[in-house]
Amino acid sequence: MSLSVEEEAALAIQPERDAYIAIYGESAVAEYDEVLDYLRDLEQERQEKAIQLPGYSLPQLPDTDVYERLLDAERNLASPRLLVEDYTAGVATYDDELLVIEGLAQVLFTTEHATGHMRLDAHSGLLISKEADYGTAAIGKILQQDTGQSLITPVGRQTSDANSASEHPIKDVMKTFIARDTAKMHISLHGAKRGRVANLTDDRGFDVFIGVGDNPTEETKDAADKLAKIAKNYGLIGGINQFFVTKEEGQPQYNEDGTLRRISFSAANPGTTRSFAQTEAERLGKPLITIQVELSDALRILPVDYDFHPGIDSQRRGTNLAYFFLQESISALNQKK
Ligand SMILES: [Zn+2]
Repeated sequence: MSLSVEEEAALAIQPERDAYIAIYGESAVAEYDEVLDYLRDLEQERQEKAIQLPGYSLPQLPDTDVYERLLDAERNLASPRLLVEDYTAGVATYDDELLVIEGLAQVLFTTEHATGHMRLDAHSGLLISKEADYGTAAIGKILQQDTGQSLITPVGRQTSDANSASEHPIKDVMKTFIARDTAKMHISLHGAKRGRVANLTDDRGFDVFIGVGDNPTEETKDAADKLAKIAKNYGLIGGINQFFVTKEEGQPQYNEDGTLRRISFSAANPGTTRSFAQTEAERLGKPLITIQVELSDALRILPVDYDFHPGIDSQRRGTNLAYFFLQESISALNQKK
């Protein structure tokens, strides 16, 4: 079955079975349940597609040791045993320890959520511990090595959240980088759950979210377009400042007025490292591309005991795709127009 526009609209506005029946009458009970079954099946199919990455198959990619290198880097920087619990302490020997690698090239990668961290909850005023964006330390490190760019990554024991707190040691280091004449670009690498969709009936979720904030500069907009195009060439589903349906335990969330709740990974909040880089560049009166890239968990190294680990074949395919997508993006952005 597929949903009519009206049915989809009814579901988007009224999540409750009773409300649906109120619109369509008692005879619609069976139909409503069928719609729910349809949406559940679709979610399962999307989860499968997210890890199979159907736009590309591994034999088409060059035979590489990228996956093995990523595993090594992740162990060395974020999680020695590749276990979920190791991401809190990481490999740090003191609180808020960072690894800073200064490259000769024009791009600064930051992977501020590479290990577990604490975030101040705006509602409760309490510090809550947040899960790491698994695999981002590894991809940042390998890209740094292979392209000669700069990298700042936490290595564990993080007492706050660099992508939310107004002041953070990462931001101090970023300032120095941005002030350099050679600095052209800041790319903040993050993670998102796989299978996120803009509409309940989309047949594939997003692989890559590109965030440029609310008032991107022309060079940032151009760069984001390039990234989106390269993602597409690799068969990845990408979106710029893309909104998506929020879910909790697999269930779509609704606003108080009954409309489907959607948010976006636009990296517009002033606390993000992306916003910080943009503000700092504006203060110095210099052009700087500032982008946040969120990779689906199908594209990142995941802990071996992670509940949603998709298996080694999928991990190898996904992480290779992410690597080639980002490597080509850096190379395209470094070329003069
Ligand atoms: Zn993150």
